[in-house]
Amino acid sequence: MSTNSKKCFLCKNTDLQKKYYYQDNIKNKNIESNNYFNSNNKIYTCEICKFSFCDDVSIDDLDKFYQIASEKKEDTVTNKFKEFNSRFFSQVLYFINHCSLKPNLKVLEIGPNHQGILPSLKIFQNKIIYYYFDQVKLKHKFDDIIKLGNFWTPKKDRLPKVDLIWMSHSLEHIHPKQLCDVLESFYDCLNTKGKIFVEIPYDIKNNDFIAPHTLFFETEGLINLFKKFNFKIVSISEINKEQIIDDEIKLRIQNKNKSKLSVNIISKVYQKIQKFLPEKIVKKFAFRNFVLNGPYTNLPIIRMIVEK
Ligand SMILES: [Zn+2]
Repeated sequence: MSTNSKKCFLCKNTDLQKKYYYQDNIKNKNIESNNYFNSNNKIYTCEICKFSFCDDVSIDDLDKFYQIASEKKEDTVTNKFKEFNSRFFSQVLYFINHCSLKPNLKVLEIGPNHQGILPSLKIFQNKIIYYYFDQVKLKHKFDDIIKLGNFWTPKKDRLPKVDLIWMSHSLEHIHPKQLCDVLESFYDCLNTKGKIFVEIPYDIKNNDFIAPHTLFFETEGLINLFKKFNFKIVSISEINKEQIIDDEIKLRIQNKNKSKLSVNIISKVYQKIQKFLPEKIVKKFAFRNFVLNGPYTNLPIIRMIVEK
């Protein structure tokens, strides 16, 4: 089906398709935030730019959605050796395979939540000046952590000059109307040869369309987007390439994830008793059970590094 009223905000093409639909987010049901953003919103696809977006929700409503969602967030227990958390640790390994981490590196992270990338980066480079935006306040006991604000409004809030911007599962949350401003602001605030690390879930391959994701990229679309804003692609990888074409495959992969249930139970017990155990035991146990050189999911994701 074609829709006339909308324009692709990257190429201005008006021939947009409606081929994807939001699924009901069971986890978010009965939450007040769903008044602002829910599965009734539409997803539009630009076949030229190879990406899909939802801009039916206003920027204000999207902000309200996150405000309410963050009020429900509770404090999480922090693990000893949290820096080896599979998602963050494998992202840093990926990064240092392609780029170096020089001393006094200035890093900006968008949405680190309770942990973020800093503890894992610190394994390889201790001298880091770290800036972030999030509603959550980080509790790491490191020097040079600077919270810039709860929300970041591109073009309105000035960014410090940095060498590296980290976006782990945050690009897909940007409001489409702000995407161009975000990429222009990133380009401006990066020092020469500055890098951006991006990881997003491959929702299109995963057949997973859930609010509050507002942007859905194909690999090609992601490359085109950053090239359009004058970035050079350093590397791009698809992880877990298998496309989820039907419910049967999805179920199989979900069951694969479920087989890790026993690990989840062990993990809960471990979190309770870890502080009473000697480091040597905790280290061995944590490494054997929780540290993987890969993200803790079997679902498709995309990783990318770009350079100014
Ligand atoms: Zn387009």
